[in-house]
Amino acid sequence: MNHVSIIGSGFSGLSAACFLAREGFDVTVFEKNAMAGGRARRFSAEGFTFDMGPSWYWMPDVFEKFFSAFGKKTSDYYTLQRLDPSYRIVFKKNDSFDIPAGVEALCKMFEAIEPGSSKHLLLFLEEGKFKYDIGMHDLVYKPGLSVMEFLDTRLLTGALKLNVFQSISTYIRKYFKEPRLIQLLEFPVLFLGAKPEDTPALYSLMNYADMSLGTWYPKGGIYKVIEGMVSLAKALGVTFEFNSEVSSLELNSVAAKGLIVNGTFRPSDYIVASADYHHVEQQLLPESHRRYSASYWQKRRLAPSSLIFYLGINKKVDGLLHHTLFFDQDFSQHAREIYDDPKWPSSPQFYVSCPSKSDSGVAPEGCENLFILIPVAPGLVDSDAIREKYFNDVLQRLEHLTGQNIRDHIVFRRSYAHRDFIRDYNAFNGNAYGLANTLSQTAFLKPSIVNKKVSNLFYTGQLTVPGPGVPPALISGEVVAQALIKKHRESVT
Ligand SMILES: Cc1cc2nc3c(=O)[nH]c(=O)nc-3n(C[C@H](O)[C@H](O)[C@H](O)COP(=O)(O)OP(=O)(O)OC[C@H]3O[C@@H](n4cnc5c(N)ncnc54)[C@H](O)[C@@H]3O)c2cc1C
Repeated sequence: MNHVSIIGSGFSGLSAACFLAREGFDVTVFEKNAMAGGRARRFSAEGFTFDMGPSWYWMPDVFEKFFSAFGKKTSDYYTLQRLDPSYRIVFKKNDSFDIPAGVEALCKMFEAIEPGSSKHLLLFLEEGKFKYDIGMHDLVYKPGLSVMEFLDTRLLTGALKLNVFQSISTYIRKYFKEPRLIQLLEFPVLFLGAKPEDTPALYSLMNYADMSLGTWYPKGGIYKVIEGMVSLAKALGVTFEFNSEVSSLELNSVAAKGLIVNGTFRPSDYIVASADYHHVEQQLLPESHRRYSASYWQKRRLAPSSLIFYLGINKKVDGLLHHTLFFDQDFSQHAREIYDDPKWPSSPQFYVSCPSKSDSGVAPEGCENLFILIPVAPGLVDSDAIREKYFNDVLQRLEHLTGQNIRDHIVFRRSYAHRDFIRDYNAFNGNAYGLANTLSQTAFLKPSIVNKKVSNLFYTGQLTVPGPGVPPALISGEVVAQALIKKHRESVT
């Protein structure tokens, strides 16, 4: 049996581990932290259980497809609930939308806000479906090794309809005029790590995912998905070693012989690096074996980092749904301070997840579990004083917009930002979501899944194809596993 070492146990590493074990490889996952999950870990304190990273479960078909590759269903591991309303957007005090589940109800909502817009919405979502079908069932599975992968007839004939060369900002404005509807439609792009003006309109597939496929919640939290994947991986024979930080790769002139883990050499036939690409290249490999230079990395556009507050509240909080977005400040100013002129934002928009609205298991009875997230530029100086300033600002706005005292009811509080991302995940510049999905960082223009100088080393995760987010991370693990399997088969025939 050939041995594969996987560095990291986030969604991409777990996905690769499952596909490789299914193929018959002997797989060991080395994880620096004490538990699996990477950016999707969870922690418990004072009776509250917090998902540390992802909170939006979108594209349920991608999760279903992952488990079905192993003869399983998501329901073998967790119970999904569709949220209705999907989420709330607060524009100012007493001005908010609840986004209903289901296209019919959405059409009514759009019509009430901008008369005549429901027929535009239907067309917009139909185009989004076309993009989703090609994007999520075809494009994202391409390993990005050559431009030739994209020269097939279906893609070329569909190229115009995919709107790759138009910005999503322009595209949305062709259909809708009402500023709040525009904000609603531009919000999913935030997940992709670039301003709407810099994001191809191809990504209106995210609006289709949001509005037609819906927002779901795995009972018990997003970590249930990680638990399901770990359980599947173990059943397939994968071995996990936690508290096992890889400090370097042992190489000969063209290949890796193995890894140094906690000071011990661990031989390997193949290595899949699912830790941040930049960390693996720049810190685990000697300069002679790196595919990309330090200046290449400096020129990459990263998706945002985040300043997060995990709060335990000893009462029920009114005015929040499971997901609530606070768009009460100027988004273009905030976006400029993330992407064009990176600095701590003057007056940021923020997001609150309150999973205790749908799940009594994540907070003590009568209490609320709050996760407040402010998207911020990567690479900022992150100090306690800055965190405190934003905590006070955001809490004051939250209290004002929801009309209640929250501060006096906080019984647990933890913050998380750049320096934690670096310490916990070796994150390049403290990024949260990896590399931005701009046109110049798409598909074969992303850091490659292979290293031409180290023939048995492969990369997966949110800094390579297909990009940031949980569904792409699942797909990234599969894509890299298939590339490794292909290479292995070629080497033995
Ligand atoms: C705050 C936040 C909110 C998010 N919200 C959403 C959301 O709502 N929906 C969504 O779809 N996506 C969301 N995302 C994005 C999504 O969580 C990520 O894209 C995805 O989890 C990344 O998975 P990964 O496997 O690429 O990387 P990671 O999860 O970072 O996994 C990499 C692993 O490698 C380990 N590692 C690093 N260095 C070493 C080493 N030297 N040795 C051993 N192990 C090492 C790390 O500890 C980590 O476990 C969010 C992310 C964050 C941070």
